[in-house]
Amino acid sequence: QAPVLTIDGPGGAGKGTISRLVAERLGWHLLDSGALYRLTAQAAVKHAVALDDAEGLAALAGSLDVEFLVADGEPQVLLEGEEVTRAIRTEEAGDRASQVAALNPVREALLQRQRDFAVAPGLVADGRDMGTVVFPDAPLKIFLTASAEERARRRHLQLQESGVTASLSSLLKEIQARDARDMQRSVAPLKPADDAITLDTTRLTIPEVVDRLTQLLAQ
Ligand code: C5P
Repeated sequence: QAPVLTIDGPGGAGKGTISRLVAERLGWHLLDSGALYRLTAQAAVKHAVALDDAEGLAALAGSLDVEFLVADGEPQVLLEGEEVTRAIRTEEAGDRASQVAALNPVREALLQRQRDFAVAPGLVADGRDMGTVVFPDAPLKIFLTASAEERARRRHLQLQESGVTASLSSLLKEIQARDARDMQRSVAPLKPADDAITLDTTRLTIPEVVDRLTQLLAQ
């Protein structure tokens, strides 16, 4: 198996951006595992499968027809040939993803698909359970965190930049609710692997975090 760097942590800690930049710098592949849960939820809406129908959702997850492309330098996600890049990034889509992610049959159905991303020269795997469940033998595991307030502030800024107005306090509430669900669920709860290095990014810039991770990998 190719080397894997796992980056786990709560939503809004900067995992997505950091994982992409580190993968670019190393020339490694990137697994955005959250996208697979978001896509499963999106497929459920499309095919009218209830969000608590574990078997129905697992069947969808096991046969997900998705493509991750880059068009004009921009990442694109297709579900059954249809562009869903933005549709799967809304707060509502994230909330649905966290509902389907709490079901063990769905997680089982996505396990091998995630492991298949670990090909040469290496993989940066972004998620909640990359170090604990999917790649337990990864040589370097990172747990990225930031305070809930800081994560809400970042999300607010990100939304503002894409022209969406949202209240900071409602974003904070949503972030706290999703954290609670991800940490308290009985299957693959969000927690650092025993051998993970925790990095609090509340007061760090993105380039500082990327540098720190590349240093750790070089050790
Ligand atoms: O990271 P992202 O916000 O895209 O993930 C959406 C949801 O998918 C998370 O809130 C979490 O419930 C779930 N997820 C997961 N395991 C992963 C990645 C995401 O349970 N490895």
